[in-house]
Amino acid sequence: MLDEALALFFRAPSSFTGEDVVELQCHGGAATMRAVFEAVIAEGAVPAEPGEFSRRAFMNGRLDLLQVEAIADVIHAGSEASRRLAQQHLAGGLSKAVDALKAPLAELMMLVEAAIDFSLEEHVYSISADEIVARGQPVADGIEALLGTWDAGRMKRDGVRVAIVGRPNAGKSSLLNHLLGQDRALVTEVAGTTRDYIEEVLQLDGVEYRLVDTAGLRSSDDRIEAMGVARAREVVRSSDAALVVIDGHAPGALQEICEAVEGLPVVLIINKSDLGAAVIATEGFAAVATHALSLSTGHGTEALPGLLRALAEAAGYAPGDESVLLTRARHRRVMQDALDAMRAALSAAAADLGHELVALDLRLSLDALGSMTGAVTSEDILHRIFADFCVGK
Ligand code: GDP
Repeated sequence: MLDEALALFFRAPSSFTGEDVVELQCHGGAATMRAVFEAVIAEGAVPAEPGEFSRRAFMNGRLDLLQVEAIADVIHAGSEASRRLAQQHLAGGLSKAVDALKAPLAELMMLVEAAIDFSLEEHVYSISADEIVARGQPVADGIEALLGTWDAGRMKRDGVRVAIVGRPNAGKSSLLNHLLGQDRALVTEVAGTTRDYIEEVLQLDGVEYRLVDTAGLRSSDDRIEAMGVARAREVVRSSDAALVVIDGHAPGALQEICEAVEGLPVVLIINKSDLGAAVIATEGFAAVATHALSLSTGHGTEALPGLLRALAEAAGYAPGDESVLLTRARHRRVMQDALDAMRAALSAAAADLGHELVALDLRLSLDALGSMTGAVTSEDILHRIFADFCVGK
């Protein structure tokens, strides 16, 4: 007698994995768990690998690859937005969108291949270049449209990356601390103290922000600080948006900052309003909003959540949008392959290069769409996806 426990039997094929499964629900306690574990191992059970149950469910056709990824995303979801998106993918939302592109593409490929097979006989069947383009173009457009959702999807899954940028001492660290409500970043009066950068996650109204405090953007003789500045530029380049902090009392030259954030949606925070305002040339910034506040007194800081939200939306984050979105780099890569092949097929058709070439590219495009849901996927990619899981999931 090791424990009095509950045993649940899930009969194949209706279990999660599609196999017969017995689940033992024991009382907690390390010694009891260990004793039960050793007993079942002695009877021939083997410990699960990371992602083992999801892998078995995938292999047995209970889940496709997009749904497997969605399970990992449900487990890791930090924000309400990412949770909802993961649930939508788990329910098959993205798989359906991909299948809706696959079906007409498969039909087109079949028609082209039939035309090749019959071409030697007496024109039993043929398909014109015009018809190939007429049928293929909507598929290409559909793939392109889905590809276009990647930024919005990535921001929902991984958070909106916002760089906090400004001259030394403008109040960047103070702003980060204020937003996080804790003294995470070092605030000092010595210019250039934030030598590397700090990334913090902020959950606000269901949205996840990755706030990155950069070192003061300015040329520096100090070698370590100069490295920090180079990193800052890198961080800004890989961000979705920027919060530019300006010392409203002593703004200094803003040209470098302006250049660093070029092309990103920007909100200008004119800080230190308690010290009185100087005239600031902000025309150079294509700012979504400009707001004066004091991080010392807290005056005007109540607007910050709304400003962050506006910034995220300017970056392409669509809060109420429940449509299907690509979320992972894998999705983007695979869909780009599908689009490239589709475009090659269409131009081969338009240039009358022959049905064989068209069929080849259509096949490549179809394979790429297939690898989205895992219809054709290499062992290596599967391994990488399942490695993301915790043991037993
Ligand atoms: P950073 O170098 O841009 O990260 O700037 P910090 O956040 O470290 O702030 C630099 C200095 O400005 C610190 O001494 C802060 O206390 C001060 N400071 C920050 N915000 C305000 C403000 O609103 N008013 C005043 N008077 N001082 C501020």
